[in-house]
Amino acid sequence: MGLRLSPWGTENVVEYKRLFKYFGIKPFSEVLKELSRITEPHMLMRRGVVFGHRDFDKVITALKRNEKFSILTGIMPSGRMHFGHKMVIDQVIYYQQLGAEIFIVIADAEAYAVRKLDRGEIVNLAINDYLANYLALGLSTRNLHVYFQTNYERDYYRLIQLFSRKVTMSELKAIYGEELDPGKLIAVLTQMADILHPQLESFGGFNTVLVPVGPDQDPHLRLARDVADRFSSELGLKRPASTYHKFLMGLDGGKMSSSRPESFIALTEPLESAGSKIMKSLTGGRPTAEEQRKMGGVPEKCPVFEMLTYHLVQSDEELERIYWDCKSGRMLCGECKLMAREKLLRFLEEHQEKLGRARGVASSIANIPGF
Ligand code: SF4
Repeated sequence: MGLRLSPWGTENVVEYKRLFKYFGIKPFSEVLKELSRITEPHMLMRRGVVFGHRDFDKVITALKRNEKFSILTGIMPSGRMHFGHKMVIDQVIYYQQLGAEIFIVIADAEAYAVRKLDRGEIVNLAINDYLANYLALGLSTRNLHVYFQTNYERDYYRLIQLFSRKVTMSELKAIYGEELDPGKLIAVLTQMADILHPQLESFGGFNTVLVPVGPDQDPHLRLARDVADRFSSELGLKRPASTYHKFLMGLDGGKMSSSRPESFIALTEPLESAGSKIMKSLTGGRPTAEEQRKMGGVPEKCPVFEMLTYHLVQSDEELERIYWDCKSGRMLCGECKLMAREKLLRFLEEHQEKLGRARGVASSIANIPGF
């Protein structure tokens, strides 16, 4: 099939529609209407950034029946939190406001064993950067559980051990590739426990667990669904639901990534640097102003337009206006970037003001590993 999704790989997944065909992910548009009958869908859903799902119907049913449901999301502190990471937590906050119980796993075991990161740095980034940013963005401490993989509850570790009986090396290799070492093996089983443990009575007994992810994380979800099936009679586990969002384009045209500073804007980015980065960003503009006036720009290929769509413009009407101003050639990239810069700096200024207090709260809600 020529398409392998790997949580540790570097593939740039651009052909999202192929995921529907090869991996059975369903278009989110199928459930959008039903969701909008119950509540206003998040702007990332309305705009097609959240493009796919598995079993989102379970969330809709839970919402209709006013039943409890939970969200599982992870922090992989392998670099500063940037706008490419923000989409996940924006969705999590949306679900929390709809009444969901939130579980946030800090993947410190995986960061240490698989990504070979320094443990002190993992804790520092997870708490003072990611978690603090989450809180400053509006995550509430109510209905919130934050834990480190290396410092959690007994039943969670029991799951990891039980799961090891019913997965095989050959299926893991088929999903994750041939280069499996002990660190990766444990990381995979630990991820299974992360995804499935909210269903246990000792963690709240949530029948519906939704995991919002980028498509590169789908191998974990597929395996978790299989593991749930294998433990359905023994532990009463059910398949988790998931949604899939597009990756945010980097300002240099690739995927926004912590490893290329010019590609991302961190949520803690100094304003001057943030402003300069967006002004230097690639665009979907034409080589000359004259051509652009004649032919219009290509917002579909423009990182600046993606920043506006994913993060900086809340109103759908305003976004549509910008889109057509670009398409028709009425607006040139210089003017557009200045507008995006102003919105970005206003957002960052307000956000960074909240960070100091959020850092104090963040360090008090996670049980930091003792050694
Ligand atoms: S006008 Fe704006 S949206 Fe259009 S290509 Fe230029 S920067 Fe991108």
